[in-house]
Amino acid sequence: MFVHITVLGLGYVGAVAAAALARDGHHVLGVDVDPGKVDRFRQGEVPFHEPGLDDLVRDGVSSGRLRFALASEVESGQLGDLVLVAVGTPSRPTGAADLSQVEAAMAWVVERAGSSAGVAVAGGPGAPAVSTRPIVVMKSTVPPGTGRRLSRRFLEPVGLAYVSNPEFLREGSAVHDWFHPDRIVIGSESAEAAARVRALYEDYGAPVLVTDVTTAEMVKYGANAFLATKISFINELANMCDRVGADVEEVARGIGLDPRIGSQFLRAGLGYGGSCFPKDVAALDHLARVYDYPFELLRAVIAVNARQRLLPLYALREVFGSLAGVPVAVLGLAFKPNTDDVREAPALDLIPLLVEEGADVRAADPQAVERARAVLPADVKLTTSALEALDGARAVVLATEWDPFVHLDWEEAARRMEAPRYVFDGRNALDPARMEALGFRYRGVGRGRRD
Ligand code: NAD
Repeated sequence: MFVHITVLGLGYVGAVAAAALARDGHHVLGVDVDPGKVDRFRQGEVPFHEPGLDDLVRDGVSSGRLRFALASEVESGQLGDLVLVAVGTPSRPTGAADLSQVEAAMAWVVERAGSSAGVAVAGGPGAPAVSTRPIVVMKSTVPPGTGRRLSRRFLEPVGLAYVSNPEFLREGSAVHDWFHPDRIVIGSESAEAAARVRALYEDYGAPVLVTDVTTAEMVKYGANAFLATKISFINELANMCDRVGADVEEVARGIGLDPRIGSQFLRAGLGYGGSCFPKDVAALDHLARVYDYPFELLRAVIAVNARQRLLPLYALREVFGSLAGVPVAVLGLAFKPNTDDVREAPALDLIPLLVEEGADVRAADPQAVERARAVLPADVKLTTSALEALDGARAVVLATEWDPFVHLDWEEAARRMEAPRYVFDGRNALDPARMEALGFRYRGVGRGRRD
């Protein structure tokens, strides 16, 4: 059954959800507080890089089923049957999740729910009838216990139902992930509300887990904390491999073939980054403190990750002694390939430290230069071309395994660099033997000391 949906927050999650649900046949109103963003979407453009989303948005807009509005333009009674909340939940300095956007979203919904005025906005020829009692569906990642609190404070007094429906899509493959979820998790105190949300995903063929709200919230944190643990674990093994002379790539293959372990998320490197893992792991750690529970394993995961991203700095110091005046190229600013998202990207921690030690840093990224420019020291030269960044450099750090970097013309790169050339392969994405044949001193993460 097709329904009217409002999606609040047009970031990676909200924009994908809005466009995908419009593709499924629903009538969707995408809402944000950022006028620039809303303008771009209205023109059928996507204001960030996410493969496949441009087509989905254009199709939605031309079908008439996907429309956009500024939060201040939406009036009472226009919310439809479901309001998906997909606003940001960044970290506070303490590590706690900052819920101010979520709380503002709740207040916004309550203000507009319940009246029948303005129904025509969501309508149109052949459109389903609009409900005036929307169900609030939380797609944002909020700490366990939040839904119950929000529900009690904002929704119960006005009789609105709340559903926790955490999102598991990954930036860079978000559109594919939306349509091919591994599972759908739905937490609610209302069986009817849970069933309405479940119906949205009926054709996706994924297992559905229906739980209470707090359990659904914990599933999301448990998943991210476990994946972060896997990464920090393989990085610890990698660091041991460097010390004993083993190759972590082979070790990962060897242990990953055990189905109890699994081969995914066993890539040694500079550790995890992005807008989710660091903040969600920090929020769970903070929650543990609030409950006076020392979640020791999680603290180690965080500490290992913080150290891991600085490995290139330690290696470069070892090779060059002082970094003063050493031209260093950093390839990759986004936290992973195929996105322009630089939130918590390892390169963004590393580069300011290299600059502080006097290195002459230039950095390249196919998509993330603009976003990185806003947060990096002004004297770092930024370019989309790896070869340009490598011109005259003596050392190169591969920080993000973008295809164009992995498959770079490394012969040409070697010609452009100054000898002796040094490469720190922070993603174990390059062939050590080939790099050495081109005259590079090579160091990966856990591939045995070769430099
Ligand atoms: P984002 O920061 O890219 O986007 C959030 C959007 O919400 C922004 O466009 C912002 O302008 C808007 N916004 C803020 N306050 C608002 C309000 N009161 N009303 C309307 N819009 C408002 O965030 P994101 O990466 O899409 O993540 C959203 C949530 O989903 C977070 O809780 C995140 O943890 C979770 N999540 C993200 C991913 C991911 O890969 N990015 C995956 C799963 C879950």
